[in-house]
Amino acid sequence: MYHKPKIVVLGAGYAGLKTVRDLTKALSPDEADIVLINKHNYHYETTWLHEVAAGTINPNQARFMISDVVNPSRVRLIYDTVEKVNKEDQRVILENGEITYDYLVIATGFETNTFGIKGMEENSLSIVDINSSRLIREHIELKFAKYSAGEITDESALTILVGGAGFTGIEFVGELAEKVPQLCKKYDIDLKKTRIINVEAMPSILPMFEKDLVEYAMKSLEDRGIEFRLGAAINECTKDSFIIGENNEEIKAGTIVWTGGVTGSSVLTESGFEIERGKVMVNSDLRAPNHDNIFVLGDCAWVMDPQADRPFPPTAQAALQHGEVCARNIKALLHDEPLENFHFVDRGTVASLGVTDGIGNILDGTKLTGKAAATMKKVVDNRSLFKLGGTRILLKKGKVRPF
Ligand code: FAD
Ligand code: NAD
Repeated sequence: MYHKPKIVVLGAGYAGLKTVRDLTKALSPDEADIVLINKHNYHYETTWLHEVAAGTINPNQARFMISDVVNPSRVRLIYDTVEKVNKEDQRVILENGEITYDYLVIATGFETNTFGIKGMEENSLSIVDINSSRLIREHIELKFAKYSAGEITDESALTILVGGAGFTGIEFVGELAEKVPQLCKKYDIDLKKTRIINVEAMPSILPMFEKDLVEYAMKSLEDRGIEFRLGAAINECTKDSFIIGENNEEIKAGTIVWTGGVTGSSVLTESGFEIERGKVMVNSDLRAPNHDNIFVLGDCAWVMDPQADRPFPPTAQAALQHGEVCARNIKALLHDEPLENFHFVDRGTVASLGVTDGIGNILDGTKLTGKAAATMKKVVDNRSLFKLGGTRILLKKGKVRPF
């Protein structure tokens, strides 16, 4: 009897949603059943979460309903949490059920990695999804409101500590530099009483950028009140402080946010995949080694850059491209055709430093700073929205804020 193949995609982020959207265009409904499983009934733009966390954009701007961009009569949508994959009997175990597959795409993204730093998991907040980011925004505002109402008298309640000065940490403090003055106005608080402190173990912020761009970013942020503690490893996080550096200096704060590292989804370890530094090192066609019917994409995968002899950095830009290649490769498998290898097209990197500032390297190595970089960041953000949601979602959620 003919068995219609079932393709199950886990995660509706950049990689998973792009795979599903492309599959629906590439395959006719007779060729395969497609199932998309995601924790929530909405997709969120992970690359905008630092703005949600600081409160410079509304959480709803950074998300849209999956059923608005994927036809539920063509794709079965399941809103549930994936616990693990039983590879032996081709079954995905969910919190509230299970489902079998013929072809599987794992794209459940990243989780926070606290590297076992004492107290970090219990005492810090982190920027992972809409809910965790919204919690940070509410937490900061509550501290300001309580201080203003006299419920808290200790000024350290108005200090925000950010651990780690990689992309996420820097983009987050950039947004905070915009938001904190607004909160001070709202709650009649003297701005001088507030502090935003970014602690970084390495001697520099954003080591992936050239020195002049790093210097530009540091100056821009310091001019707007951000304090940096560089070359200072966080040894411990208590409920209201970081303990940093060789002398175990304590810095107190009302809000503590850890942006010091991420790792691949725990679905991978729970499912018994061979893991390297938290992710699966996939074959060049994006399949998991020794599993011809399982693709691993986005922040769950390391994809080797053959030119540099190291994996490509995990980014949304790459995750979208994984989705495109994965959809084509699943079609190739169904049609008994050869699979293609993944080739990353690097369109450059931009880091925002708040709404109107940023740094970036684009396309041919052109360096951008200031409003040009901030504008480019919005172009990149809108491009991803368009790729995942089309014109309608772009018009509804796109970034058009004037400077
Ligand atoms: P995600 O987009 O994170 O999607 C994962 C999906 O899986 C989510 O919908 C999630 O809800 C779902 N999910 C997770 N676990 C489960 C489960 N157990 N069961 C069911 N569903 C689950 N990259 C860039 O290229 N440019 C940028 O400007 C940029 N800015 C960033 C800013 C921030 C604040 C952060 C945190 C990251 C940024 N990145 C950026 C990196 C980029 O966001 C990631 O590389 C990208 O999100 C990876 O895409 P993904 O599809 O693998 O995962
Ligand atoms: P990251 O790993 O890039 O940066 C973490 C930073 O924390 C590092 O600088 C590290 O030295 C520091 N750190 C780690 N342990 C520490 C300790 N004990 N004390 C003090 N500092 C410590 O993590 P991220 O910034 O969350 O980025 C994750 C991924 O997402 C990256 O691959 C990045 O490329 C991507 N991303 C990209 C963008 C963008 O393109 N604009 C924005 C955000 C994230």
